[in-house]
Amino acid sequence: RCMMSSASNFMKNMYVKRTPEISKAIHVYSSALKATLTWQNMTTLQECREACGGQGLKTENRVGIFKAEFDVQSTFEGDNNVLLQQVSKALYAEFLTTQRKKKSFKGLGLEHLNGPCPVIPHSLTSVILRSSKFQMDLFCLRERDLLKQFAEEVARHLAQGESRERALMLVNFTFYCTFSC
Ligand SMILES: Cc1cc2nc3c(=O)[nH]c(=O)nc-3n(C[C@H](O)[C@H](O)[C@H](O)COP(=O)(O)OP(=O)(O)OC[C@H]3O[C@@H](n4cnc5c(N)ncnc54)[C@H](O)[C@@H]3O)c2cc1C
Repeated sequence: RCMMSSASNFMKNMYVKRTPEISKAIHVYSSALKATLTWQNMTTLQECREACGGQGLKTENRVGIFKAEFDVQSTFEGDNNVLLQQVSKALYAEFLTTQRKKKSFKGLGLEHLNGPCPVIPHSLTSVILRSSKFQMDLFCLRERDLLKQFAEEVARHLAQGESRERALMLVNFTFYCTFSC
């Protein structure tokens, strides 16, 4: 959740310093953040409601009012599921292009894949666990693994004769079911 706040600040800076060259990256970042932040918003409200017990249901504590008010966010300004499909499609296309053309990743936040794979230390002291480098390494490793898995799964469906659109749809669905549980 802390990372979500940092990510949204990063996005705001990106928008303030926008140039035509980064408009695609802004679209991809904002689609991903819009979906994750608005879903997180609802999860947080539910947690607040439960943390307040019966009081959370009282009208004057406004949790229910906020839930009713913010629920629409996952649909308007772009349905969250559809936005995340756009994100996965853009990252997958970037992944394929750089592999085929043997180029470096540039834009879309995938530059960390140009470097070596981060190594997680054997002994995880509290200092390491709290360091921003360690936390960034975890996110980079996760993105690296997920993207590789995603590309492998799409390739598997393509090899079975599925169209590219259907392969992407099937893999998006599998990832959605796996990672939203
Ligand atoms: C209060 C409010 C204000 C709005 N204001 C505006 C506005 O000012 N201007 C404007 O242009 N529009 C506006 N909209 C419309 C809004 O953008 C659409 O409601 C939104 O894009 C979702 O489209 P939809 O309602 O057709 O739902 P659908 O796209 O039919 O979605 C229904 C379900 O199908 C799923 N789904 C859809 N496509 C896919 C797919 N490809 N793969 C997997 N699942 C999929 C969705 O995840 C969702 O669960 C507003 C909507 C609301 C509710």
